[in-house]
Amino acid sequence: MNLLSPHPLHLGVLICFLTFFSGGCTNDSPGTSNVPRALRSIVCTTGMVGDLVQAVVGPEVDVQVLMSPGVDPHLFTPSPRDISQLSMADAVVYNGLHLEAGLSQTLENLEEDSGRLVYSLATPLENSPDGLIRVGGEQFDPHFWNDLELWQQAATGFANKLAEEFPDDAARFQANAEAYNQKLAELLAQSQEQISAIPPERRILISAHDAFEYFGRSLGLEVAAVQGISTNTEASVKKVEQLVSRVVENKIPAIFAETSVSDKAIQAIIAGAKQQSFDVRLGGTLYSDALGPAGSGAETFPKMYEANVKTIVEALK
Ligand SMILES: [Zn+2]
Repeated sequence: MNLLSPHPLHLGVLICFLTFFSGGCTNDSPGTSNVPRALRSIVCTTGMVGDLVQAVVGPEVDVQVLMSPGVDPHLFTPSPRDISQLSMADAVVYNGLHLEAGLSQTLENLEEDSGRLVYSLATPLENSPDGLIRVGGEQFDPHFWNDLELWQQAATGFANKLAEEFPDDAARFQANAEAYNQKLAELLAQSQEQISAIPPERRILISAHDAFEYFGRSLGLEVAAVQGISTNTEASVKKVEQLVSRVVENKIPAIFAETSVSDKAIQAIIAGAKQQSFDVRLGGTLYSDALGPAGSGAETFPKMYEANVKTIVEALK
């Protein structure tokens, strides 16, 4: 048999053989991104992430939030239903910097298994971490939504990522991010003005866990908390005693509970100060790591931020 005869079968095998080695002849050719070309649904972890994502993608895309109002993201672990919801979405967006510690394995698996877009809003900040608060080694404080300038960088970074993945809609994503950022810039200016009404010696924010370092840095408030940047450790008696002394010595008029954390330690500080004949009151409950429920006045991220500023100004002024 002449190997060079142009028999249709031989020719077909030869073409497939050659195209196999150049990456063809399969439907799933290696190196091709599996990210869906249409963006119809996104699942986000926290309400703050969901607010930013919905603003950038617009009403055309269905955005779901995994964690309900009041849920603590540091302690959240996914149910089988959550995992199935995540795996059915076209894209998954999370806060990052280990805020969602109990989800990290799930997020890693999703990224590896499907090749869908799995994106952390902290990505542009980690690439240029000057604005992030370092908490030892290569670990950063994850509560960066409380710095409205960093949150604007997150919105721009997310819009740029979407523009790369879905170039047909790039202009829409970028225009939406600009509009969102404009709102946040106005909110920051307005909040700085409101905080400046508090006498300088009273600009101290004491709360249950360390979620407000970025907030304090951008608004000029000193910040202290009973628990560290995560809520996964018990509040120490020593820390409570230190804060009681601080409250009494500085005559701090009010301290704050948080919606997603127990107020036990905050009540212990109030009781400790009382034993030293100083009345510090509960200044209200701050939205630390979760949005408020519908009708609370804190059901979107800008409203949540505004509500916190209002609570703090009223209690310390
Ligand atoms: Zn937190």
